Amino acid sequence: MTAYDVVDPATAKPISTVELADLGATDAAIERAARAAPAWRDVAPADRARLLRSFARVVDEHLEELAQLEVRNAGHVIGNARWEAGNVRDVLDYYAGAPERLCGKQIPVAGGVDITFHEPLGVVGIIVPWNFPMPIAGWGMAPALAAGNTVVLKPAELTPLSAMRLGELALEAGLPPDVLTVVPGAGDVVGHRFVTHPLVRKVVFTGSTRVGKQIMAQAADDLTRVTLELGGKSANIVFADADLEKAAAAAPGAVFDNAGQDCCARSRILVQRKAFDRFMELLEPAVRSFRVGEPGADDTQMGPLISDGQRSRVRGFVEEADVDVAFRGDAPDGDGFWYPPTVVLPRATTDPVWHEEVFGPVVGVLPFDDEADAIRMANDTAYGLSGSIWTRDVGRALRVARGVEAGNLAVNSNSAVRYATPFGGFKGSGLGRELGPDALDEFTEVKNVFISTDD
Ligand code: NAD
Repeated sequence: MTAYDVVDPATAKPISTVELADLGATDAAIERAARAAPAWRDVAPADRARLLRSFARVVDEHLEELAQLEVRNAGHVIGNARWEAGNVRDVLDYYAGAPERLCGKQIPVAGGVDITFHEPLGVVGIIVPWNFPMPIAGWGMAPALAAGNTVVLKPAELTPLSAMRLGELALEAGLPPDVLTVVPGAGDVVGHRFVTHPLVRKVVFTGSTRVGKQIMAQAADDLTRVTLELGGKSANIVFADADLEKAAAAAPGAVFDNAGQDCCARSRILVQRKAFDRFMELLEPAVRSFRVGEPGADDTQMGPLISDGQRSRVRGFVEEADVDVAFRGDAPDGDGFWYPPTVVLPRATTDPVWHEEVFGPVVGVLPFDDEADAIRMANDTAYGLSGSIWTRDVGRALRVARGVEAGNLAVNSNSAVRYATPFGGFKGSGLGRELGPDALDEFTEVKNVFISTDD
């Protein structure tokens, strides 16, 4: 075990020290989870549902504490952090409905009765990134536990505190020991072991496309199942017939929320050419007035970036690449990893700021001519996670939504995530779906049993 300082990104000062698990501790956690799996699988469905509801209730009782942890450890603004803690509660409540509804089928066949069962996989390893530590932990653990699996969960090195607290709250709620174990540690130690340990039957990884590809290759050895939620470079498509005031007012939040460190960030704004100048006139005051600062203050809209390294990376896309900055907002210049909301005009679609995931508060804006052009430009990316379409023409909204290669689209809205609807990516944005009813399929194997009715 080695100790690691956890830092408040708004002050750049350490706030806690966390012991990082080594290989031995990781193996021990996985083995305990495997031993706990048969008993958890056999808990009566109604009792498993009750335990998940109890977990949701305990999270609810600690909502403010969890939100404050995320403000300090991840720099999330308090309003968002409260939503995130509430989202964990809601996801647990939602999947608490699953144990009693996870039905198989009876399939008509000759000579007997054929039935299917949805059986848990065993141990599920969940690897979480630093940008949304609580919701992403919740989206993985809730359906996995509901389907009868035990879980080992690794938070990101930079943001382990809320997940560690969730692990304690699970025990307080009455979940048996070793059904959910939080294992803080390094990606190439704990995360790698989750992927390569033969007792881990499924890995849910949320993070960069680079690491996701490595994980998929390493998981092939044991045919370990994977769900991969990876990066994004989503388009915010604004047609000239849209409510331009509404679209421009919503655009900053769609990309600067969580300081742009959001896989669903609409970091490419495409505006129909005839409305381009008007849209930019409306966007400028919305960006300049975006409130950046102390994340614990109620009216703050954007906090700091997660680390100095992340800020340097973001700077590289704008300052070192010498991109044309259209306008930017303000950011504090004290300690802490601050960077202002920034709108750039790429010179070409080959500019890295236009086609790579910046993962910071930077958005590019370019014009398009017609529907076909908008779809072509939106799809001109290795990713396919999210996006928005702004238009008053419902037929156009649906044509464009069907044409854009992305898993989660919103019309006249920034919405990307609802716990009852599936979430996941096309192309380089990943594999599999979280949330909604579809996620349960990711945590079970279908077993088919034929019973002969012959004499
Ligand atoms: P990352 O890939 O560096 O790390 C993610 C997690 O994987 C961390 O817990 C890390 O410790 C672990 N890890 C690192 N190397 C590993 C290895 N070799 N084996 C196993 N685990 C390993 O990503 P990040 O920088 O923490 O997060 C940012 C990325 O996450 C962005 O690309 C973002 O788009 C993506 N993301 C995607 C979604 C989604 O749902 N699609 C959601 C949030 C973030």
